[in-house]
Amino acid sequence: MQYKSLNKLAPNVSFENAVILGLAPDKGLYFPEEINELPSSFFNNIETLTNVEIAFEAIKQFVGNEIPENDLKQILSETLNFDFPLTKIEENIFSLELYHGPTMAFKDVGARFMARCLAYFNQKNPEQKNTILVATSGDTGGAVASGFLGVNNVEVVILYPSGKVSDIQERQLTTLGQNITALEVDGVFDDCQEMVKKAFLDEDLAHKNLTSANSINVARWLPQMFYFFFAYKELKKHNKPLIVSVPSGNFGNICAGILAKKLGLPIQHFVASTNENDTVPRFMTTGIYTPKASKATLSNAMDVGNPSNFIRIQELYQNDIEAFKNDFSSYHFSDEETVSSLKEIHKHYNYVAEPHGAVGYLGLKKELANKPNHIGIFLETAHPIKFSDIVETTLELKLPIPKQIESVLNKEKKSVKIKSYEDLKNFLT
Ligand SMILES: *Cc1c(COP(=O)(O)O)cnc(C)c1O
Repeated sequence: MQYKSLNKLAPNVSFENAVILGLAPDKGLYFPEEINELPSSFFNNIETLTNVEIAFEAIKQFVGNEIPENDLKQILSETLNFDFPLTKIEENIFSLELYHGPTMAFKDVGARFMARCLAYFNQKNPEQKNTILVATSGDTGGAVASGFLGVNNVEVVILYPSGKVSDIQERQLTTLGQNITALEVDGVFDDCQEMVKKAFLDEDLAHKNLTSANSINVARWLPQMFYFFFAYKELKKHNKPLIVSVPSGNFGNICAGILAKKLGLPIQHFVASTNENDTVPRFMTTGIYTPKASKATLSNAMDVGNPSNFIRIQELYQNDIEAFKNDFSSYHFSDEETVSSLKEIHKHYNYVAEPHGAVGYLGLKKELANKPNHIGIFLETAHPIKFSDIVETTLELKLPIPKQIESVLNKEKKSVKIKSYEDLKNFLT
């Protein structure tokens, strides 16, 4: 499969090169040249397939012949070695829990898949060495660190803002060792992001083969479509039109869901639920895309003012705004509404959500208000323990510590403190 740059000024590349480059030389996002619908027999028989078999059918056209079938199946079975339960919350509403992986956030799926693809390509070219450079405001760093741990010929460097990530998130980044280094930046997330961007443009660092591991990378974006298929497999028997609400920040997750729909997956409607960072909800009402600086909220993994994957969604609709509006709504919610939502879900349904899932629930309820005969899913994108401060105070309870988290709590934190871009460059060279 060939990938084109959405800025249209760079040549097409293979899947391998799209993964290794991350972003095209013209700064555009890579996008598949062609998208082919899956045969109806696949959807007719989906109940008989395992998660790995479903994932293989969904992804194979995007990898093409660059990874042989058996190796790709092996990569998928290692990527998907945990559950994706669908929990019934109330009549016709389900929570799709994406947090049962090693770092308890949905980003595990993309990070594990990307790491294994890169490992496969490196083993083919033993001279090839890459450095993954990533800035994190929380969940990305942990998922990338865990996904890439021990992968040959890949060094991982994670920048995080000192004192601005939770204790659990910091431990997930700083305690693994081996090929993972955490740089603790004296600054905020935007400073980390700035330094990473600068490093990608720095000629002096070209020999380091810097690669990004955020959702602009096709190997992180594409596998996120898998669990939309898994959810459909579970709910197909209800035979009702399906609405999926996705708590959205950079819009990578929801964009993968929309891609699944393009492959023929019968999801009738998507809801992009956001916090006060409402660039997309505003676009849906005004038709004008005006990004804003991000605002800090309780659902901080969605504090994004200029969602990087929105352009891929527009490409999926070829800018046909009517078709787009038919399939897609977007609503934003305040922190107060998020807190009430957490309380309501707990009080009425005895379910512990976290702020991102609570925003997803609100968006789903809003859409379902006019669509009584539908079934709704909201994605729970992280385990409540990752946002224990807010969840425990709001719900007045103490969360048990899951085993994945327990295992990092007693490990020793190791980080390298940096203050400036020069420090980063010195570290890398
Ligand atoms: C990253 C993240 C999101 C946002 O996902 P996008 O793909 O960037 O829209 C939502 N919730 C949690 C918990 C996250 O870590």
